[in-house]
Amino acid sequence: MKYVDEYRDAGAARRYADLIARAATRPWTIMEICGGQTHTIVRYGVDELLPLGLTLVHGPGCPVCVTPAELIDKAVELAARPEIIFCSFGDMLRVPGSGRDLLSVKAGGGDVRTVYSPLDCLRIARDHPDRQVVFFAVGFETTAPANAMVVAQAKQQGLTNFSVLVAHVLVPPAIEAILSAPHNRVQGFLAAGHVCAVMGIHEYEPIARRYRVPIVVTGFEPLDILQGILMVVNQLEAGRAEVETQYARSVRADGSLPAQALIREVFQVVPRKWRGVGEIPASGLGLREPYAAFDAERRFGPARYAGDVDSDCQSGLVLQGVLKPCDCPAFATRCTPEHPLGAPMVSSEGACAAYYRYRRPPAAAPAEERAS
Ligand code: SF4
Repeated sequence: MKYVDEYRDAGAARRYADLIARAATRPWTIMEICGGQTHTIVRYGVDELLPLGLTLVHGPGCPVCVTPAELIDKAVELAARPEIIFCSFGDMLRVPGSGRDLLSVKAGGGDVRTVYSPLDCLRIARDHPDRQVVFFAVGFETTAPANAMVVAQAKQQGLTNFSVLVAHVLVPPAIEAILSAPHNRVQGFLAAGHVCAVMGIHEYEPIARRYRVPIVVTGFEPLDILQGILMVVNQLEAGRAEVETQYARSVRADGSLPAQALIREVFQVVPRKWRGVGEIPASGLGLREPYAAFDAERRFGPARYAGDVDSDCQSGLVLQGVLKPCDCPAFATRCTPEHPLGAPMVSSEGACAAYYRYRRPPAAAPAEERAS
């Protein structure tokens, strides 16, 4: 497939691995931010090509994983109400809150619908004027423009039976939180190319300067990631701490100015709690006052802390790169995709799901897989 196969070429990957091995003269720890990058690394064994001492750790860039339990609980509460049609991307349905998940509400008769675009929700709202339609707006800067557009269109269309439960998070404050943590061991970052395609690279420049850390905006295919690692290693070895772009085929330095304008029109920056991590200042998006009528928490009441999530889940440490999924005692035993204890085992971008799918211990693999 053009523009895909050439980025998965095994010979080129080995050549990049050789370049990295020659460039790295000492141990370094690099974090990839995005869960999509984590899946590529684990699926294609990118980390296994790297020299000993060069460690990749996985970051918090899975929006499903970082959505706090109280917002899941609020989603569950709303979805169970008979007057509400609750719309969500499919990934969110099996994420446990402090109790039930959305799928169990649906199984119990709740009107929970999987949508592929937030615009689907406006059609549902128009088709059901006697019901309230709530959309679970989850994601990083990548999904914020589309979610902002749907709110703006709902306002233009005068829809009074549509609202959004907002759980948007932002990447740069999360990077700063990781770098500020006492247990931090990350020395360089692969930033998420799709986020920077929207937001540009400039908000990363003060972080690189302040924390003396190289940040390379990187794509999602194996060769993208190997090239991004090489660029980070070259900076680390040279004592440089700059923002560079590996993913130049998609990212411009200024990003998408119309998308940023739309985000600014509808959303404002707010503090946000990250699941397993805690509250990070100025790390989320909430609706601005002119759009407050579309805020599901204002319409139906705020999300509230409802109880502890499973204390066996170590997702907070996994999301901060402190722990690898396979080092969690519950991995592939008490926690599997069929019976997840935490969101990183549910989400298609979750690090625990990636390890389970591509790198689970042989004892946990089904018999037919072990035999093959
Ligand atoms: S393996 Fe399961 S229990 Fe362990 S951190 Fe991942 S999601 Fe949580």
